[in-house]
Order: sequence, then structure tokens, then C-alpha cells
Amino acid sequence: MIQDIAPHVFHNEYTKKKPSEDSLFLFFNGQKILIKTPEVSEDAQNQPEEPGNPEIAYFTLSQIRSLLPSAAEYIECNSVFLFTIDTQDFFLFMQPQERQMPSHEEIAGFIMDKYSQSFDNGLATLHPLSVLRTGVPRHLAFAGITGHQLYLWYQSRRFCGKCGRPLRHSDKERMMYCEHCHHMEYPVLCPAVIVAVTHGDKLLLTKYEGRDYKRYALIAGFAEIGESIEETVRREVMEEVGLRVKNIRYYKSQPWSFSGTLLFGFFCDLDGDDTITLDTEELSVADWFTRDEIMDDGENVSLTREMMRVFKTSRP
Ligand SMILES: [Zn+2]
Repeated sequence: MIQDIAPHVFHNEYTKKKPSEDSLFLFFNGQKILIKTPEVSEDAQNQPEEPGNPEIAYFTLSQIRSLLPSAAEYIECNSVFLFTIDTQDFFLFMQPQERQMPSHEEIAGFIMDKYSQSFDNGLATLHPLSVLRTGVPRHLAFAGITGHQLYLWYQSRRFCGKCGRPLRHSDKERMMYCEHCHHMEYPVLCPAVIVAVTHGDKLLLTKYEGRDYKRYALIAGFAEIGESIEETVRREVMEEVGLRVKNIRYYKSQPWSFSGTLLFGFFCDLDGDDTITLDTEELSVADWFTRDEIMDDGENVSLTREMMRVFKTSRP
């Protein structure tokens, strides 16, 4: 799955750190990430390019310094420590927070756009985040998508939600606080469930309505305030396909930063009638599939696909 980056080790303990010359910097622009163009050896230049997984690379501070000498100090001073993988530190370039109310012109002239375009001259390219689903090496793809979740959080925590004044970074933990009214903001995690409903030799598969993701998936949905995660499982299955379930078994969890969620995977058994009543606002298709009918395209990024594969290859 996307978080399985062994032998590399992800460390997300927050400390107030300054970047070193070999720290890696992540740059985002909305739903896009700046990927450094891989350096190609002379031998490889003469070879025809092979289609495969996109290569993920980022800039170190020293590389930024040599490419954009006038901007390096500015980028260094407006960055926040994200996390470490093995001994490699990752930093996020952030828009300065001082301005009270940015005008449209200021937002349009957001400094990252400017630098992204400077980079976008063959040295690097802005890619849609989906490049991180299949990009290699896997630990750098995981760094990119995890960094993007933090980027979105920081972007929307620039001003106090209670009094509107600028928020400050805590020195001690990953938290933003308001000096005026003492309001505190911690990173937001949205718990959600992925549910594999089984019925003897069959598994319930669905397709989402009105989304880009067109392949078969499992029942999924966000936890609501006031319910346990097992109650989320029962409620989501009832809402989406009108079925009762029993024997709910926790499988694994997965941080899924593409949608800012922490996913909890559960297997459960159908309880009673197998007649599906489709919630057509959420789903376009829902049906029972035998082990032989479940498709496997080899994708090993998501918890959903792993759970489908586990059912397909398990002995009934
Ligand atoms: Zn405040």
C-alpha cells in the first residue's frame, strides 16, 4: 500500500527545525506538485525511452540555491519542517502569513506560481498529484502525497477561525495558534471506513457515481460525530446499498492523503436479505461478485485493492 515504504522509515515527530543544504523541498500549486526532472546519464540518453512508472525527485536547498540564487533565502525563510524519512528532512515552502487580507492580485501573484514557472524550464514540471500513485521511488511518492495533505492544512489555517487574526506556528508541536484569542488549530484527520461485505463466496463491489474513479471499489464513507467506527460500517452499508451486516472484523488502516482521510478497513458478513437497494446519488453500480469474477489489475497502492485481493485469494 502507499504507506508501505520499507526498508525506509517515516518519522513524523514535529520539531522546529531549520533546513540544511541537503533538505528536500516540496512545492505545491493547488492539486499539482513540482517534480524535478530526473538527471539522465549519457548512455541512457541514447536509449529509447521506456514507458514505466514516473520518476519522483525533489530539489535540495543547495540545488535551489544554485538555480535561483536570489530566491533561495526567501524560500528558506518561508518554509516549514514536514517530516523525516530515514535521515532525510522534508520541508514545505509556504506563502508568508503576515498579510492580513490578501487581494485577488496578491493571490494570483502567489509567490509559488512565480517560482514554479522559473523552474518549469526543463528542470522541473508541475504534475497532477495522481503521478504519486505510481511514481518511484515509493518513499518519495509517499513523501509527496503526505506533504500535500499538510500543505492543504497549512493553507487553510493562515487566519484564526474565531477572531480572524493571523495564526502563528507553535514551536513545540504541529499546531497553529492565535496570539490574540488563544485559539489553537491541530492537523485535521477525517476517519473513514472501507467495507468489504461478504456473502458466502461473493463480495459486494460498487462503482462511484459522478467521480473520476471508474473502477470497482468497496463501500466507503466518513465517520460522523457521535458514532463508533463499527457503527460507521453499519450505517454506510445500510445507506449505500440497503443491507444489514454482522460479524464486523477490523482488517488494516491506511493514511490516504489524496482525500485527507485515515481509512479503516473492515470485513463483514451479510446479515439476512441480499437484495441491494442502491443509493443512486453515491453509487452507479453495486453487485455481488464471486472470487473468480473479481478483477485484479495489480494495483498495490490502496487499501481497497488489497482487501479485494485478500478476498479473491482467500480459501472459502
Ligand atoms: Zn483568534
